[in-house]
Amino acid sequence: MQYQSTRGQVSEVGFIDAFLMGLATDGGLLVPSTIPVISSDKLEEWRTLSFQDLMLEIFSYYLNEEIPNDELKEMIYASYSTFRHEDVTPVHQLTDDIYLLELFHGPTFAFKDIALQLMGQLYSYVAKKYKRPINILGATSGDTGASAIQGVRGKEGINICILHPNGKVSKVQELQMTTVQDENVLNLSVEGNFDDCQRMIKELFADVNFKNEHHLCAINSINIVRILAQTVYYFYAYFRVTDQRPELKGVPLHFSVPTGNFGDIFAGYLASRMGLPVGKLVLATNENNILERFVKEGIYKPDGFHTTYSPSMDIQVASNFERYLYYVLDEDAEQTESYMKSFQESGEIRIPQELLSKVQSEFAAYGVIGAECLATIQKYNDEKAYLLDPHSACGVAAAERTLPAGEVVVSLATAHPAKFNESIELCEIKQEFPPQISALYDMPVRKTEVEGTLDQVVAELIPFYHRLQVK
Ligand SMILES: *Cc1c(COP(=O)(O)O)cnc(C)c1O
Repeated sequence: MQYQSTRGQVSEVGFIDAFLMGLATDGGLLVPSTIPVISSDKLEEWRTLSFQDLMLEIFSYYLNEEIPNDELKEMIYASYSTFRHEDVTPVHQLTDDIYLLELFHGPTFAFKDIALQLMGQLYSYVAKKYKRPINILGATSGDTGASAIQGVRGKEGINICILHPNGKVSKVQELQMTTVQDENVLNLSVEGNFDDCQRMIKELFADVNFKNEHHLCAINSINIVRILAQTVYYFYAYFRVTDQRPELKGVPLHFSVPTGNFGDIFAGYLASRMGLPVGKLVLATNENNILERFVKEGIYKPDGFHTTYSPSMDIQVASNFERYLYYVLDEDAEQTESYMKSFQESGEIRIPQELLSKVQSEFAAYGVIGAECLATIQKYNDEKAYLLDPHSACGVAAAERTLPAGEVVVSLATAHPAKFNESIELCEIKQEFPPQISALYDMPVRKTEVEGTLDQVVAELIPFYHRLQVK
């Protein structure tokens, strides 16, 4: 499998190069040159596989034997050995029609662990095999940072620097990042919001000289490997639901996805292009609803930033949107580039009606406001004794609002409620913390506060990266 840029200016690269490139060197995003299509017979053969073996099968289509199968298998098994559930991503039936895909059984209690544990293994593999220094740089709205740090802390040949918006992540999210004492971890707490952090990261990655000189590597969902890893649980969920409901085999299954950067839901789109029977992809947002407006009106235009109960979705400019745009435009890189250019110039993208109809045939969208998010948490806690975290609650509420009654939906439960106790307390619910989370409160904290300018960030980065080189 080769990978190419959504903007068409990168000659095709293999899996490892795509993994290391992160953002494409022409400013676009990498996508597979052709999406492999899995036949329905093959799909049925996969039904009995464990999560790990399913991932191995799916990756075999994307790797082209760049990593020997036994080594890949070892990495995959190591990645999920830290998970607290033997199914890795179990499915829980919430109501007659709503199934929750629980993605929070990893070390940092959010779905980011699924891709980032594997990416940690892959970075380690590359560092060893190619003797290449790895300097991971990323921005986080809370969960990616914690998860990426867990994936590579203490690993030889790897540094990781994460920018998070100061005071705009939950207490537990912040502690998960800042209580890590390993020397290869730098937390920059930035004055500003997530979009500010992400913009600075993108500028650094877009500066090809800086990126190459400092061996920058990306863990954000601009990295295609993260998307590929996340396709696996869409397949896995389909098998588990249709195990229980054999009459639904082969019938398109709806998925509802709490969305920020459009990474997770794009993985669902990719799974559907690969032949998984997917019905509607329900795009759930909070008050930061640029993507909801895009699906409803065909206009992609950021507006004011809102701080909400679901901070990991407090994003206006969704990186992965460009990947989807590229497919809506029938893989026309020239048009994708011209849309993205006009976005940079005018601050918005407008698509014509015929494209909007295509988007609406694939996606539904609903923005869940704060009160509705809390009401959803309360409702399922009272009626089903199931405590949803605020992100997962947005997914469930959006599914209820957009889908016809009686149709089965898998709603992605993207985080454990203990990560967002601020919101759970507002529902007057007292939850018990898992011991791994309670323990965080007693640990010493390490972080560096910076103002929201690129110069300040670079001033912290250079000595941190230099440290590794002089060793
Ligand atoms: C990151 C995150 C999301 C949003 O996922 P995207 O891939 O950015 O769309 C939703 N919920 C939680 C808990 C998250 O951490």
